[in-house]
Amino acid sequence: DVPPETLLRRPADIIGSADNAGHARIPLPRDLFQPERINSRGIEFGERAAVNRLVTDVATERVSAVPVNYSGPNDVNRAVTTARDGFSTWSRAPATERAAALERAADLLEQRSARFIAWLQREGGKTLDDCVSEVREAADFCRYYAAEGRKLFGDAQPLPGPTGERNTLRLRGRGVFAAISPWNFPLAIFMGQVTAALMAGNAVVAKPAEQTPRIAVEAVRLLHEAGIPVKALHLIQGDGHIGAALVAHRDIAGVVFTGSTEVARSINRVLAGKDGPIVPLIAETGGINAMIADATALPEQVADDVATSAFRSAGQRCSALRLLFVQEDVADRIIEMIVGAARELKIGDPSDPATHVGWVIDDDARKRLDAHIARMTREARVHFAGPAPSSGSFVAPHIFELDDARHLTEEVFGPILHIVRYSSSALDGVLEAIADSGYGLTLGIHSRIDDTVEAVVDRLQVGNVYVNRNMIGAVVGVQPFGGHGLSGTGPKAGGPHYLTRFATEQTVTVNT
Ligand code: NAP
Repeated sequence: DVPPETLLRRPADIIGSADNAGHARIPLPRDLFQPERINSRGIEFGERAAVNRLVTDVATERVSAVPVNYSGPNDVNRAVTTARDGFSTWSRAPATERAAALERAADLLEQRSARFIAWLQREGGKTLDDCVSEVREAADFCRYYAAEGRKLFGDAQPLPGPTGERNTLRLRGRGVFAAISPWNFPLAIFMGQVTAALMAGNAVVAKPAEQTPRIAVEAVRLLHEAGIPVKALHLIQGDGHIGAALVAHRDIAGVVFTGSTEVARSINRVLAGKDGPIVPLIAETGGINAMIADATALPEQVADDVATSAFRSAGQRCSALRLLFVQEDVADRIIEMIVGAARELKIGDPSDPATHVGWVIDDDARKRLDAHIARMTREARVHFAGPAPSSGSFVAPHIFELDDARHLTEEVFGPILHIVRYSSSALDGVLEAIADSGYGLTLGIHSRIDDTVEAVVDRLQVGNVYVNRNMIGAVVGVQPFGGHGLSGTGPKAGGPHYLTRFATEQTVTVNT
């Protein structure tokens, strides 16, 4: 058990921190104090007292690191077979009933937000601010897919036409969906995948990442309590081998996966090699996300948005900024301000509300990031190498300058920013370098020239573009999220086309 007194013990620190001689600083409290978001009745954070109440509530939740047993191949088989049974009933339940269960799940999430926050901190190493956003996003997914599902899966759609017959089109669940999720949004992505598949009338067997098993247990219990039949939703636990066994099972009718490009490819290969029906894959993967800041950008805002995009959540967001292209005329000033912002970050225990950067997910991740830092320290110009606590899986923010963007060939999933300067005549080269990476998840542009913004948006195949703001934290239903190329197959999570990919279409023609 985590003794409650070690959790969140300095509520007063949550309200901002002193600015440092005009340097931009990470706006940590902004989300906590922002009004309710669209699609969510919200966990109410309007005032300091509410934040303090939350901090106390989280501290009283006792969450323990009980290991979760791994499932074996027989468990996978049992789960899929039972889910097939569950599918026959759940797929026939009216869409209104399925949607109501999702809405009850959102209510329960909001009521139990403190418990989920405690788990997100315990297993995921997330800061309070990140935990709040994540619970909110999970509830948003439930409500959004419920609302979309009511429209899409209600009555069959009449298709009037010249045939003199009665033609209708309806969407139906496919069967048993495998939902495989990553550790970096262990609640929001897990819930998003599972609720979308369920809303579309599928049964689900879910496999969370091995680093965050208990959050998934709590989420599945909550969904069962909200009215999802036990037979229609199953959880299996384990590492990639169990995920692979699930994907390979003959009765899987679809796979929704979020994680690395490499694993998405391997799932794709397994599905392609299977006998029987062709099984669709919805895959959302990583990116080498870039931001372009030209000489017309507002330096203070660039620095603030870069620091948020690159270092928040210890850089462990798929949307996080990895590569900043800054026009050389303003580069020195902007880099100095970003370094100033990075210096302000407090790295440490994520359960301390004053912390901006918690630990990275595990020691393997830390070692991978340390190796990259060592290479960059040899090969690039070091602008900032922050201090990190000596014990624990901490990686301090780092800022490196490269002379060519092509030195960064793979996603570096941590608080490490790479900067490349470009001359005003070399914007085409910047766009080519971004396109050549093959990824296309998020892109930031800081410019006050509309034509530049339009040209960049037009030239690049990137899923989510953010102009003159930070590039993380897509809002469900308002900023549908997902990438192209090596970054994923689409459709976008939290968008109007997502649910249809989980369904089959059936046209019925009746000779009247
Ligand atoms: P990962 O290593 O690809 O793992 C993702 C999930 O796949 C985990 O549950 C993993 O299980 C499982 N898995 C591993 N090998 C498998 C196999 N052969 N067959 C089936 N399942 C398998 O990714 P991660 O490290 O958890 O997450 C970080 C990655 O996710 C980053 O690349 C990030 O950019 C990406 N991401 C993308 C989005 C998006 O929306 N585009 C959102 C969040 C994260 P175990 O972990 O237990 O081995």
